[in-house]
Amino acid sequence: MKQSSKDILKRHGWRIDRALHNFIYFYFHKQYVTVSRLLTKVTVVLLSWFKPIKAVPNAVFNRYHSKILSKNDVTKILTLNEDIDLGRDQNKRVIPFKYANKILFRNPKLIATMDCPCALNQKESERCHPVRKCIAIGQDFAPIWLEHCKEKYNAIQITQEEALDIIKEARKTGHITNAFLKVATGGLTGIICNCCPKCCVEIEATKLSKKIDKNISQYAPSGYSVKHDSQACTLCGECEKACHFEAIKIKDEKFVYNIDACMGCELCIESCPSEALLLYNDPNKLLPLDIELLKKEFEKN
Ligand code: SF4
Ligand code: SF4
Repeated sequence: MKQSSKDILKRHGWRIDRALHNFIYFYFHKQYVTVSRLLTKVTVVLLSWFKPIKAVPNAVFNRYHSKILSKNDVTKILTLNEDIDLGRDQNKRVIPFKYANKILFRNPKLIATMDCPCALNQKESERCHPVRKCIAIGQDFAPIWLEHCKEKYNAIQITQEEALDIIKEARKTGHITNAFLKVATGGLTGIICNCCPKCCVEIEATKLSKKIDKNISQYAPSGYSVKHDSQACTLCGECEKACHFEAIKIKDEKFVYNIDACMGCELCIESCPSEALLLYNDPNKLLPLDIELLKKEFEKN
């Protein structure tokens, strides 16, 4: 048995069910995404009959999550030169999920990238690019991809600089950067997804789950909001096009911003040709996954 497989068994301990789920997830990504897409649709139809029993949809949708990352926050993660173990986010101030909430990066310079299984699930002519854009950071994930996903998903080892280039390119084409967390992978950080609304099964699942309960979200907002400078703004509408969460509308020659819908992904800011938008740390939202800030915050408690 390869070392990364032994590590999966060790990580899950007596929870053989989760270890098995973890094996299937990592070794059969593409098939897993196909089945997830189908199951999500069926589940939403079935659960719509149980709408009043809120615990049911919550239990179904609380096992797969993401924390949205600003460009600055992902850059800090991809330039780490020491292990980070902030433990579980006990107070859920950063990652508000029941199971998937552990902030851990061991050996962060060991990085792998591979083809995105969500993109591979689309027809070749319809999938978004770049296809190789999933990033695994550190000892807990990179070896699995390098040992098991080379042939199937073109997994290769890359440097921190190369990983940052992937993020840069993906963001240019409207991909949302996020730290992916899943119960089956131990609920810990270490995978960076670049999600586009066209291919991503998680975005699709989040949209569908909102039909049952609008409070269910598999995405945690980054913790930032956006300030708008009406003097600099030319009402060109580029920010509206860039926002996947419908938080910005140009309506009746006015810029309209819905702060509650804003996930703080920063894509609007990068798309604005007039530098009329600014990201700020919003005290009314979750804490960002800003490693430097969190080290100080977690030391206080
Ligand atoms: S992209 Fe910038 S200039 Fe254009 S509407 Fe949005 S804020 Fe205004
Ligand atoms: S308004 Fe800007 S920062 Fe907020 S979700 Fe939309 S694109 Fe992202």
